[in-house]
Amino acid sequence: MQEHSRRRFIESCLAVAGSVCAGCGEGERAAPPSDPPGGDRKGPVPGARAAEVDGAFEPGYVKLHKNGELKKRGEALWKRMKPCKLCPRTCGVDRHGGKKGFCDSGSDLVISSYHPHFGEERPLVGRGGSGTIFFSHCGLRCVFCINYEISLQGQGTRRSIEDIARMMLALQGKGCHNINVVTPTHYSAHIVRALDIAAARGLRLPLVYNTCGWESMEILKKLDGIVDIYLPDMKYASGEMAAKYSTCAPPDFERTRPEVAETYSSSETYPELTKMALLEMHRQVGVAKPASDGLMYRGLMIRHLVMPNRVSGAREVIQWIAKNLPKDTYLNLMSQYTPTHKAFDYPEISRKITREEYDEAARAAKEAGLTNLDIQGYRPG
Ligand code: SF4
Repeated sequence: MQEHSRRRFIESCLAVAGSVCAGCGEGERAAPPSDPPGGDRKGPVPGARAAEVDGAFEPGYVKLHKNGELKKRGEALWKRMKPCKLCPRTCGVDRHGGKKGFCDSGSDLVISSYHPHFGEERPLVGRGGSGTIFFSHCGLRCVFCINYEISLQGQGTRRSIEDIARMMLALQGKGCHNINVVTPTHYSAHIVRALDIAAARGLRLPLVYNTCGWESMEILKKLDGIVDIYLPDMKYASGEMAAKYSTCAPPDFERTRPEVAETYSSSETYPELTKMALLEMHRQVGVAKPASDGLMYRGLMIRHLVMPNRVSGAREVIQWIAKNLPKDTYLNLMSQYTPTHKAFDYPEISRKITREEYDEAARAAKEAGLTNLDIQGYRPG
């Protein structure tokens, strides 16, 4: 992306962002938890949301369903697929008319799998698991994507919106603690419409929006009050790194759809847009703290995957979080980077991280004063 058009793109996103507070949330700070989230503790967690474990918890989308707003939001998102601007790639294709954009998804929904997942963060997993629904395709194309068959090659089964609603209810029936939509951005319209159906049939689990973090502000505003837990990555501190490793064009993309190739924005905007997105997510749901049952019901949970040779810019990412969000913002520092897919074409990311690299990031988080850390330790994938 040329520098001037990149700047224009970011400026237009800032205009949409409008009233987002860059200072963010000082007044919302709460005491840090005395135990790691979801730990084996006895008695209530300090600052826990008692109402949530007393059975008074009601997901935000239920209220919006009852007053008809959820249906309206679903319809508004649906319209954003023509021309499609559901993600910052802003391809502008007519997905309703059968066109596909950079993410390779049309108006049809493709889902890879759905099941209780026990590998997510402990406050999401509990005993019953996190009720994950894995969506196929993705608006980013990371050269190291561990799920590239699903995200890049579109492996999965065609499903209807009614199917997602049924999946959500089935996951609730299995005892999952939340509905965790994985890589939801390009299907946000389908998800919100499905939620409206599922809420009418008794869905009452918190909604986890498990995203790469590169989100459009306009779309996030439409999700305000619908999402209970935001679970975004903050993958890179540098736009150059984001463009290099996360804009791997699909095969034949430029050749077959030149009109789209000219309009899409590159992942170079990743750091700027993700920072704005995180501030907005925090504004909507606040700091993530588990309730007294050890489970998470609401809040912002950020993930950062430490990459080899400081490619992800872990220290800069951490310092930005510490400076712009409350110090007790939940941060999961992940050590399981595993080169896969096209990562071997890039020598600097063609290995797992070292213990020293992970420890350096963990030290940086503590030095920055972050107190709500999920430091899993050095466990290379
Ligand atoms: S990449 Fe983004 S803007 Fe393009 S079609 Fe997919 S969701 Fe829409």
